[in-house]
Amino acid sequence: SPEIVVSEIERPKIKFDDVGGMDKLKEEIRLKILYPLQHPEMYEAYGKKIGGGILMYGPPGCGKTYLARATAGELGAGFISVGISDVLDMWTGQSERNLAQIFEQARVNQPCVLFFDEVDALGGRRSDMSSGAGRHVINQFLAEMDGVKNSNEGVLVLAATNAPWHVDPAFRRPGRFDRVLFVPPPDNDARAEVLRIHLKGKPQDSIDFQQIAKKTAEFSGADMKAVVDQAIEEKLRIALKEGIPKPLVTKDLIGAAKSLSPTTREW
Ligand code: ATP
Repeated sequence: SPEIVVSEIERPKIKFDDVGGMDKLKEEIRLKILYPLQHPEMYEAYGKKIGGGILMYGPPGCGKTYLARATAGELGAGFISVGISDVLDMWTGQSERNLAQIFEQARVNQPCVLFFDEVDALGGRRSDMSSGAGRHVINQFLAEMDGVKNSNEGVLVLAATNAPWHVDPAFRRPGRFDRVLFVPPPDNDARAEVLRIHLKGKPQDSIDFQQIAKKTAEFSGADMKAVVDQAIEEKLRIALKEGIPKPLVTKDLIGAAKSLSPTTREW
């Protein structure tokens, strides 16, 4: 169905500096995705194969989509984000057509980062996917991946899942998702960094980022952003009442954190 295919391609403005923590992951993505496009001759000199996708896994809200978007931002590339459940239109081959259209759109707009969320929904172990139709979709997906690999085009495939154990093993063959990377919940320093990033440009007064980070154990990146949003909302409410905007301080953020609960705990 046409509404699945985005006609206007997003060109993300965020870069790796806008993503808190994840130093190891950023380095992997540089080596596997950014540098091959920026310095293909180096890879050629050493006969190092390029291509293949990266599969990220980990608890929700810890920046998988955000990092994929920043990867496109680093390259000045287009970005197409696809939820597998949106594609899984199980009626009569419709999903195969959708997949083909999505890959085609990425090719037309290359360089382009093609991001698939919830790839576990294509998991071969799922009962609804073990049927003939389900198998068809998986095979179509793998064929498109192999096509991208062999044509050496500027289509870069990233994927994410919260349930890596459901991902079909065929996805992990060489040239497909041959790098599987864990995106962990942010540690103290990463949480402080996420706070700093989302508070950039906001009125603030000597915020103790480390102190807030210590009080937000088990908060995800998305949770940290929620802390900032909540603190700002509260501050704005007061400013509207008092008629004067005051800068955010440490206790505003700690107060906001106390009113929210972390989401990574159950994972
Ligand atoms: P899901 O598994 O639910 O798709 P996800 O890991 O893809 O989760 P994102 O959607 O990337 O999580 O994160 C949600 C939002 O949280 C982002 O848009 C961003 O604002 C914020 N965020 C998460 N992680 C980070 C981070 N490391 N640095 C800065 N912001 C972050």
